[in-house]
Amino acid sequence: MIETVQGPLDPGELGPTLIHEHVRFRDEAVAENWPGRYDGEAELAAAVAAVNAAKGHGVRTIVDPTAMFGGRDVRFMKRVAEDTGVQIVACTGIYTYDYLPINWVTRSEDEMADAFVHDIEQGIQGTDMKAAFLKCAADEPGVTENVEKVHRACARASLRTGKPIMAHSHPGSRTGPRQMEIFIEEGVAPEQVQIAHCGDTDDVDYIEEVLQTGAYVGLDRYGIEMYLPTDKRNATVLALLERGHVEKMHLSMDSCASIDWFNDATIEGLMEQGAVREWHTRLLHEEILPTLKEGGMTDEQERTMLVDNTRTWLTPAG
Ligand SMILES: [Zn+2]
Repeated sequence: MIETVQGPLDPGELGPTLIHEHVRFRDEAVAENWPGRYDGEAELAAAVAAVNAAKGHGVRTIVDPTAMFGGRDVRFMKRVAEDTGVQIVACTGIYTYDYLPINWVTRSEDEMADAFVHDIEQGIQGTDMKAAFLKCAADEPGVTENVEKVHRACARASLRTGKPIMAHSHPGSRTGPRQMEIFIEEGVAPEQVQIAHCGDTDDVDYIEEVLQTGAYVGLDRYGIEMYLPTDKRNATVLALLERGHVEKMHLSMDSCASIDWFNDATIEGLMEQGAVREWHTRLLHEEILPTLKEGGMTDEQERTMLVDNTRTWLTPAG
């Protein structure tokens, strides 16, 4: 069974899935200390609108990899799931490019893994909603000591529970192969790992290097033009399909229904510059999939990427 915020789900019921979308993204420390700077009702409305937009295109499940430092809140996810009828899959883990609070610096990988296993076996944030997968990240600074600790903790929690891992990566720093090296060293089966954001590069050889480890790759940031424009993302996907990798590819947008990283004026500026284009949950179905089909993607390949691959990755091992 696959855990969702609505409860355990038969893998056959997953349906068309967006594997990387955030129903809300915010810094929990800022939100906790200055709640007045957030409009909870507007955030909820934005989340419901984003999820309904995807639902309108037949999406039945959204995998939301919001972890610690992204303001993970399973009660919020549950409200969105109930208001839309779309299944939402939650995770456990830590989203950091380096910083860890002293609380985690002074503790071991195994103690960190204990916290992750709690979310998988008992439930998240005092609820009975359970995490379906583990999340960690490496970005521009590379795999630093703290980042490595989170990766090893995810690996150990994965081995204890059979749950898969999603690892945010930074192709510009070639983090993917190093991240896989750590997971494999810890004994994780590579097919249980998805290296996210591989689609931020059009270096197909690099992506193949990640694929050769046995991992899934996330081509999952459609709409974030500042990292790679849409036409280059499409060409990369088509090249990978051509080279026979359909069974290891995931398509998504990494959209955030709301995000507190920037104020409204900055977000408007980014849109105006075209740095972030059409960053909403409809983009994939309304524009990308039709373009990929014109480029030669078959209906079967689309189904493999949006339905089968998410199911096989999310189905726990053993
Ligand atoms: Zn993300």
